[in-house]
Amino acid sequence: MEGGNRPKNVNKETSNTETETTMMMPSSSNLPFTPKGESYGADINVQFHNAATSTVSGKSAPPRKPLHQEVKPESWVVPTSTKAIRAVNPVTFAFSRLADKVKLGSQRTDGKNPISLANGDPRSASDFGPCTEAMKASVHSMIRDAQQSLGYANACGVSSVRKAIAEHHSYPEHRIEARNVIVTNGCSGALELAFNALLDPGCGVLIPQPSIPMYEMMAESVGATVVKYKLQMDCNWECDLEFLHTAMQHCGNKIRAIVVNNPSSATGAVFSQLHIVQLLEFARIYRLPIIADEVFGDMTYAPSQFFPIAQVAAQLGRQVPVITANGLSKQLMIPGWRAGWVTFHDNVHGSLRELQAGAVRLAELGPGVSTLTQCAIPQLLSKSNEGLNGWKSRLQTSLERQIVFLMTKLSMCDGLVPMAPQGTYYTMVKIKYSVLGMDDWEFASRLLDEENLIVLPGSALGAPNNAFRISFHLPQRSLYEATTRLYNFCQRHASERREAMDTLVEFAMI
Ligand SMILES: *Cc1c(COP(=O)(O)O)cnc(C)c1O
Repeated sequence: MEGGNRPKNVNKETSNTETETTMMMPSSSNLPFTPKGESYGADINVQFHNAATSTVSGKSAPPRKPLHQEVKPESWVVPTSTKAIRAVNPVTFAFSRLADKVKLGSQRTDGKNPISLANGDPRSASDFGPCTEAMKASVHSMIRDAQQSLGYANACGVSSVRKAIAEHHSYPEHRIEARNVIVTNGCSGALELAFNALLDPGCGVLIPQPSIPMYEMMAESVGATVVKYKLQMDCNWECDLEFLHTAMQHCGNKIRAIVVNNPSSATGAVFSQLHIVQLLEFARIYRLPIIADEVFGDMTYAPSQFFPIAQVAAQLGRQVPVITANGLSKQLMIPGWRAGWVTFHDNVHGSLRELQAGAVRLAELGPGVSTLTQCAIPQLLSKSNEGLNGWKSRLQTSLERQIVFLMTKLSMCDGLVPMAPQGTYYTMVKIKYSVLGMDDWEFASRLLDEENLIVLPGSALGAPNNAFRISFHLPQRSLYEATTRLYNFCQRHASERREAMDTLVEFAMI
């Protein structure tokens, strides 16, 4: 990384012999590495920075052969970077254990085709069509604004787009400007930018558990330490504030930020205004900025209501700075468009001035976001597009209907305790060990074997091992079939276990 691997003093403009010799055969003093360590070629010694290789293979790379000598056709491997080695998605990794078991109906004796309730992508399983009016308006604006949509844009985004996003995230209590917005590749891009601007190797960041694995991956890829705080299943998935205070008292000087995801795509819960006030109070005491992942926004179900953390912070006198990551992927079901952004809601002390400037520099380092996507954003945020408003309310009605159906079916299953979703299109379901005798992995694994139905074990997301997560944005008929299989599975195992228990009790009485 530092310095590259070419001799630094090579100057293309000059053509004196010394430079040419340098280019052909660099002497060790021209190399950007300390001249000690492994042998490189005939007469040059350099030290390889091969932490990456040694982590992967457990041994260091063999000495390289000079190219002009004949090389035997032995196998060789190009090392990858430490950052790449750290970038392991724990869910994909854990889930591959289950994925191997998925079979087509034609490969099974019962003919059951696989159904997945573990799907993260709202489009892949949904038969709810896109909002065509909004898509048309977006395409028209791309053509109309060709001047903007064809050229290179500012690295932080097209200015009219940043303005529209700033408007969308301005509250009566506090307005933000276009300069407080950076357009990113999806909400993931927003989070990545925020993490890169905030974190250094060795520092810490507070991350909720359960949550999507992306937070942990991103933080660890920059070498930061993840401090996981619990969302409490039996307290409406609220943050464990007591733990948060303890964590700050023990390692507060290392911790740079707290990540809050609301509504939570891991649990389907939505925080009350009171709980957000509590979180802001916590952040104020320890002078922590909040990274608010609010990609699901107001996709909530009555009586739950969405309160943007930045707005509540503004109402409380702007003591706590909030960095909000957002995008249109989930609410408009267009994850493939990669429309996202980060907004900086500074406090009265201007605590974010350096961080925001740092994020701008990082954005300038990056490749930027396609202007085709960017030019669509203002139309998709518009409150006056009636087609879009109608589409949103139809989506809402459809998801609410799915929830009623889902809750009715799940509450009939022996050994399951459903929790009514308050937002998003995910929910966690608790497994009663006393009734089914299975933890989350065993449940998911046997459900797949017996019913060809896929659910995500809660512990894959960092939840306790007595729950699983399902998504309910499926077509009605798939949801019907899936819940029927779930019901059959639970009734079968609950009654088997009851019989086994009865037998045990009989023996014990003899
Ligand atoms: C899906 C998801 C994201 C990623 O959003 P993209 O816009 O697709 O990058 C971020 N955070 C949460 C909580 C999500 O569920």
